[in-house]
Amino acid sequence: MAKKKRLLWQLFPSYLLITLISLLIVTWYASRSLKHFFLEQTASDLEVRAHLLEKQILEYLNPLDAESADLLCKETGKRASTRITIILPSGEVIGDSEENPANMDTHIDRPEVIQALSGRLGTSIRYSRTLEKNMMYVGVPIKNNSQILAVVRTSIPVSAIDEALKSIQNKILIGGLIIAAIAAILSLLISRNITRPIELIKKWAESIAQGEFQSRPPLDGSEEISGLSQAMNQMAIQLRDRIDTIMRQRNEIEAMFSSMIEGVIAVDTEEHIISMNQAAAKMFACNPSEVQGRSIQEVIRNTIMHQFVKDALSSQEPVEKDINLYSDGERILNTHGTVLRDANMGRIGALIVFNDVTRLRRLENIRRDFVANVSHEIKTPITAIKGFVETLRYGEVKNPEEAKRFLNIVGKHVDRLEAIIEDLLTLSKIEQDTEREETVLTEGRIKDVLQIAIQLCVTKATAKNIQIRLSCKQAITAKINSALIEQAVINLLDNAIKYSDAHSVVQVRARQTERETIIGVHDQGCGIDKEHLPRIFERFYRVDKARSRKMGGTGLGLAIVKHITQAHAGRVSIESTPGKGSIFEIHLPRA
Ligand code: ADP
Repeated sequence: MAKKKRLLWQLFPSYLLITLISLLIVTWYASRSLKHFFLEQTASDLEVRAHLLEKQILEYLNPLDAESADLLCKETGKRASTRITIILPSGEVIGDSEENPANMDTHIDRPEVIQALSGRLGTSIRYSRTLEKNMMYVGVPIKNNSQILAVVRTSIPVSAIDEALKSIQNKILIGGLIIAAIAAILSLLISRNITRPIELIKKWAESIAQGEFQSRPPLDGSEEISGLSQAMNQMAIQLRDRIDTIMRQRNEIEAMFSSMIEGVIAVDTEEHIISMNQAAAKMFACNPSEVQGRSIQEVIRNTIMHQFVKDALSSQEPVEKDINLYSDGERILNTHGTVLRDANMGRIGALIVFNDVTRLRRLENIRRDFVANVSHEIKTPITAIKGFVETLRYGEVKNPEEAKRFLNIVGKHVDRLEAIIEDLLTLSKIEQDTEREETVLTEGRIKDVLQIAIQLCVTKATAKNIQIRLSCKQAITAKINSALIEQAVINLLDNAIKYSDAHSVVQVRARQTERETIIGVHDQGCGIDKEHLPRIFERFYRVDKARSRKMGGTGLGLAIVKHITQAHAGRVSIESTPGKGSIFEIHLPRA
């Protein structure tokens, strides 16, 4: 685009041009009128001079006294600085102020003479061959009783008129130039006066465009300009209000968007990301400010997800699917997709919402597994009991010794069932209490609790020749539910005895750090392989099923320990080396 001229440089030259043209026309007209006036004035002057001589000349004509007439011409002409000529109707010159009439040819053909001879006033401006310059001639008829006796001609050089005119024209020119200069300065001032407020408004509008809404528009200037200022000010106020509203709404939406736990991604119809919230960015390990405008395929490397986005874009109905992600561990995202529409209901993309349901699904799985496990655990003893009871009922066992042995087996299975049910009830009670926050915690001495637990396990230990050693300072206290902690330590001790060889040592140690009270049970038993450690605290999880059952284990001991610790807002840890032994620790937080 060609550079636009400033308004000042459009107004000022126009003003100047108009002024100069008017000035030229006025000057031209004035000097023309002046010249005209001058010539008329001179002609009437010459006529008056001729009339003054009329009477005297008449005297020399009747009778004709050419010599005196010539003398009159020469004397008067000299005094009046005027050429005076007297011409007879025949054209003969009888007197002339400048020349000897004898040397002058006939003047019958001179226009002023011709006009005067017809009885009128004759005037003519032309070149005089006699004087060799431009002259103005006026011829006046001299009559005697309406008979023209001669013509008296007065004349002066036109150069005199021209000089007078020139000096006046010079003055007009100087005046004109002064007026033009003043007009130029005035038009510059007027142009600036008109353009200044417009420029101020322009600058103000530019500042508005840059978002500076604080300044006020210039309100001086003409009615139109101040009207324009006010209208623009109104516009700016409305604009600021609208921008404020839009910004506020945007901030609110952004705040909502980024504080959502659900991941949200909006894509356009080309599958390019319009926006992504913090939660989604965290799920897919990317930066939300960098992904805008990039394709979903580029940002999320998961083909099922790509297909899901395609489905969401093409489907009329909302779509839903659980999608598994495999970056640092498996995660399950429950994903919803709906079409995004603009104000005219036109499709502009799709909104994908992700809900991390990994924990939920895992819990569902655990619950499902738990039901299956419980059923399985209970089914084995019940099947056995049923078998033996049937055998006894139909009297197939004749020998009372055998019957006693059968009843003993049935009794063992019943014990096992009872143990399972008891452990399940304990677990469920701990869980319920934890959920309802009904677990009562009081400040208690840890050593006392450990001593009771050890006492309760000593018989089992002695039977296997296992020695239990306690190492706990008297001063160690913690906020605990003594019965629960006792139960947990008993479970750990029970395991330690079960999975240790005879003649080994089991140590119960308690210590305190700045943040925790730690109770540990160390054994020198078979230890646990690394692969089992993450699942060891799950219900019914056993490393060696047959061995555990044989030992009368329910597979719930460690799960109970975990839940008791959780009821104390603590955690359990395990370190184990197969063949060397294990260390189970209960970490209780210090207030
Ligand atoms: P169980 O009643 O079978 O002992 P637990 O929940 O107490 O059930 O323990 C789960 C499994 O962890 C056991 O089956 C056993 O394989 C393993 N385990 C527990 N404690 C020890 C230990 N001190 N040494 C070796 N293995 C252990």
